[in-house]
Amino acid sequence: MQSPTTNKDKIRKPLLALRAQLSKSEQQEKSAKIVEHIKQSNVFMQSKKIAFYHAVRGEADPKGLFNSISNSNDNQQFYLPLLSSDKNQGLVFAPIDQNTQYKNNAFSIPEPIVETHALLDAKELDLVIMPLLGFDLTGSRLGMGGGYYDRCFAFKQSQPKKPVLMGFAYDFQQLDEINAEPWDISLDMIATEGNLRVIEAHPPTFT
Ligand code: ADP
Ligand code: MG
Repeated sequence: MQSPTTNKDKIRKPLLALRAQLSKSEQQEKSAKIVEHIKQSNVFMQSKKIAFYHAVRGEADPKGLFNSISNSNDNQQFYLPLLSSDKNQGLVFAPIDQNTQYKNNAFSIPEPIVETHALLDAKELDLVIMPLLGFDLTGSRLGMGGGYYDRCFAFKQSQPKKPVLMGFAYDFQQLDEINAEPWDISLDMIATEGNLRVIEAHPPTFT
């Protein structure tokens, strides 16, 4: 019998290929629609500390959420993830503004350059916009295979209310079923160009 992990590895390849086929303009058009759905949602409007990510390799791009904010809502602070030096922690989050400087990490993804004391504990975030390769409608998430988000938000297994974890994805990344493993942390919501879904089994405190 195949282990679920092997199964996951198998589906990553075709999903990467599908994403690579998108043109730059399709990527931008779909990303703008996803951003619009999120901006109109209560969960976004009520969130003060919001993490998102720097899109690479054809990922749907959430930066429109941040760009729109400088002139609209002074209450919101945006954060980007950094690879933690502590492997068990996975990620830490740095506050950013229009003047933030960046340097590439080991995966060639730009990370904010900030003082250590400015880093935020993941438990303090209200909303986390997460990249993914695939998702299903039970909220299972397939990442690139590093398990960084699973490690960082492992505390949600026992403290599920905060932060709200929201997948940011193209509709074609939806799968029938992902075999979630014990360490996999589920998404609470999924935003695609088609709609913004709340995963039903999750605490609906944020709708
Ligand atoms: P992804 O979530 O990026 O798709 P996986 O769910 O396949 O990746 O996880 C990749 C690896 O990360 C797993 O094989 C596991 O060893 C490790 N991992 C994930 N979560 C944890 C955790 N909470 N503690 C320790 N290791 C973890
Ligand atoms: Mg996982």
